[in-house]
Amino acid sequence: MPIYQIALPLPKRQVFDYLCEQADLVPGVRVVVPFGPREMVGVIVNAVTESEHQTKLKAIKRVLDESPVLDEALLAISHWLAHYYQHPIGEVMQTVMPVALRKGESDKPKPTCVLGLSNSDVDELISQVSRAKKQTELVQMLTAGPVALSEVKQQFSMAVINALLEKGIVEKHEVEVSSDVLSWSVPESLDKPRANVQQALAITAITHRLDRFACFLLEGITGSGKTEVYLQSIEEVLRQQRQVLILVPEIGLTPQTVKRFERRFGLAVGVLHSNLTDNERLNVWQRSRSGELAIVIGTRSSIFTPMLKPGMIIVDEEHDGSYKQQDGLKYNARDLAVILAKHYQVPLVLGTATPSLETLNNALTGKYQHLQLLQRAGNAALAKQQLMDITNQSLESGIATGMLERLQAHLEQGSQVMIFVNRRGFAPALLCHHCGFVEQCKRCNKPYTVHKSLHKIQCHHCGAAKAIPPKCNECGHHEMVTHGVGTEQLEALLKKRFAQYSTVRIDSDSVRGKSKLHTLLDEVNRGQHQILIGTQILSKGHHFPNVTLVVILDADGALFSADFRAAEHLAQLITQLAGRAGRAEKPGEMWLQTHQPGHPLLQDLIHNGYGDFARFALQERKLADLPPFCYQGLFRAEALQASDAFQFLSTVAELLTIENVRIMGPLPAIMEKRQGRYRMQLLLSSPSRAQLNRAIANHIVSIENLPAGRKVRWSIDIDPQDF
Ligand code: ADP
Ligand code: ZN
Repeated sequence: MPIYQIALPLPKRQVFDYLCEQADLVPGVRVVVPFGPREMVGVIVNAVTESEHQTKLKAIKRVLDESPVLDEALLAISHWLAHYYQHPIGEVMQTVMPVALRKGESDKPKPTCVLGLSNSDVDELISQVSRAKKQTELVQMLTAGPVALSEVKQQFSMAVINALLEKGIVEKHEVEVSSDVLSWSVPESLDKPRANVQQALAITAITHRLDRFACFLLEGITGSGKTEVYLQSIEEVLRQQRQVLILVPEIGLTPQTVKRFERRFGLAVGVLHSNLTDNERLNVWQRSRSGELAIVIGTRSSIFTPMLKPGMIIVDEEHDGSYKQQDGLKYNARDLAVILAKHYQVPLVLGTATPSLETLNNALTGKYQHLQLLQRAGNAALAKQQLMDITNQSLESGIATGMLERLQAHLEQGSQVMIFVNRRGFAPALLCHHCGFVEQCKRCNKPYTVHKSLHKIQCHHCGAAKAIPPKCNECGHHEMVTHGVGTEQLEALLKKRFAQYSTVRIDSDSVRGKSKLHTLLDEVNRGQHQILIGTQILSKGHHFPNVTLVVILDADGALFSADFRAAEHLAQLITQLAGRAGRAEKPGEMWLQTHQPGHPLLQDLIHNGYGDFARFALQERKLADLPPFCYQGLFRAEALQASDAFQFLSTVAELLTIENVRIMGPLPAIMEKRQGRYRMQLLLSSPSRAQLNRAIANHIVSIENLPAGRKVRWSIDIDPQDF
C-alpha cells in the first residue's frame, strides 16, 4: 500500500507516515488521520515507498480534497518558510491555509452574504430612516446595488446594519459565487492624472519587467504619488489578464484605499483584513485562486493568497512593523514577498517614504532597482520640520507654553492641529508624593499606567488592572501623584484650554474595532474636530489635508533605547507624521519637543531629511556590525524560574558554538519579566545567512529534544525585529 508523509499541526520538526489505498494522492491534498486518541487534519507532503515505522503504520481516515488546496507555489513557500525560519512544517502549513481549511472545511466556494435595499423607491426608504445619519449613508451606499456584508461591515457598525434589517429597509441574501468570470477588461481611456516625469520613469521601469522577477524600491515622500505609480503599473498587468496582490499595513487598509483601486479599473477588489469571518476570508482566497479577482489587497497574511495568474506583487509602506508576525511562525511578509515574486517570476514593488535600512541597503547595493519620487504630486509642500528645545521650559501636561500659543494661532486660522503622544492612558506611572513608591505590576515589574476615565491602573504588558489605590501601599500617605503624560491627560488639558474647539482622541482605547476608527477619521476630514490627539495610529496611511500643525510631544526615549533599531523607527515615525499634514494652499509645520535639540540624529533628520539620516545610520550599522551587515537569529526562553531559562539557553549556546557564528548571551530580555515569567535570550549573528541557517538547522532537532527545554517556553526568531 502507498505510504504518505503528512504534515500535522504539531510543534514537531518532522512529518508523519500513514498508509492509504489511494495511490494517486499528491502533495498539497488534505487528509484526516488518527493521531493518538484524536483525529487531525494534515497535508500530504510526499509519497514514499518505505518507512522506518513500516509495521506500525496507521491508515488515513479520509481524503478531503480532489485537487491540492495548497498549490505548487504555496507548497514551495511552505517548505521555504519551514527551512528559513526553522519552524515545524505542519505549523507552517496551518499558517499558510485560511482557518476554514485548517478545520477541514471544503475548499469549494460557499454562498456569500450580501445586503440590498428591500425596494427600489430610495426616497421612500430614506424617509423611513428618519434622519439617523449613518443609516441614511448605508441606504445611499446600497442604491447602486447589493454589497457584500463583509464590505459593509468595514464602514458601518453591526448596530447600524441591524437597525435597517429590523425596519425591513435592508434585506440579507445569500448569493452563489460564480467563478466563471475568468477574464476582465480594462477600459482603454481610464480617468487618471498624467504622470509627472519621475512617476513616468518609475512606471516605465516597472512595466518593462512584467515578464520576470525584479524587485523595485519605490522611495517617494508622502503624497509624491506612489499610489498613482502602483495604479498605472497595475493597469498594464491587468491588460495582460494577470492578477495583482497588494499588501498594506494593518491600520493602513481603509475603505478609501480600496475604493481608489476599485474606481480606477471598475473591477471588484478582494479585501483581506482581520475583521473577516473565516468564511469571508476563504471566499476571497477561492476567488483569487480561480482567477476571478484581478486585485487582492490585504494585510500581512494576505501574502498566502493563491493566484491563478500572478502578475505583480506590491508591498506598500514596506518599512511597517506589522509585516512581521510576532508569534508562532515569525515570518516577515515583506521578505516573503521577495521569495514569492521570484517563484512566480513577476515584479515586486516595495513602496515607502521611509525605507527600512535593510531594503535601502539592497537598493543602494544594486540588488533592488531604486526608483525615487522627490516631489509631492500637485505641488503641495512638505511640512517644515523643526525642533523645540524644552529644557527649562514650563510644561503643562507635557506641552510647552510656547507650543500652546502656536496651537491657538493655527486653530484661529481655521486649521486643524495634531498632537502625537506615544502613550495611551492618563499617565505612564502612579507614585507616592511622600515616599516615592511606584505602583508596579508584580508579574511584569513595570509601572502601571493610570487610566482616569476607567478609574483604573492597568499594566500595558499583561493587561492586569485594578482600582486606583486611594493611598500609598508602602507608607499609607494619601498623596498619590501621576508621572508622565498619556493621551488621556492631554485630551483633558486641551478640552479645557480650547473649549470652543472639538478635540478627538485616537488611540487603541478610544478606537475599538475598525469601523470606529474609520468613523473618527471621517469626522476629522469632514472638519467636525479641530484638535486630534493620538498615538502611532495617526502615523499610518491617513492623510489630513487640513492639518497644518503637527506636534510630537516627547520622543527622547528612543534616543537612548537599548534596541538598535529605535533610532530608525523614530526617524520613520517623525517623517511619516510630518507627511500626514498639509496641502498646496495650506503648507504645514511640524514641531518636535525635545530635551536633546543638539542630538546628531535629530539634527540630521530635521535638516537633511530621512534619506540622509538613513544613509548615515547605515554607515553606523556597518561599523557596529549590525543588520543589514550581519544576519541574526534569536532564541527566546521564558520560565517561572530565571535559572531554568538560563540553563536551557546555555545548553543551546554550547551546541551552536560554530565558526563564523557569534553568540551573545544568555542575557535577560529588554522586558525581563512578563506575566510572572522571566525572559532570557540568546542572540546569534553571522556575516553569512547560509552559515547561520545551517548552524541552527544542524542542531534544531537536538534542541527540540533537550530535557532542559521541558521547563521553559522557547522559540526561535530569525531576523528578529524586537528584543
Ligand atoms: P502617495 O501614495 O505617495 O502618498 P498618492 O498617489 O496618493 O501619493 O498621491 C497624492 C495625491 O496626488 C493624490 O490625491 C493623487 O491623486 C495626486 N496625484 C498623484 N499623481 C499625480 C499626478 N501625476 N498629477 C496630479 N495629481 C497627482
Ligand atoms: Zn503586568
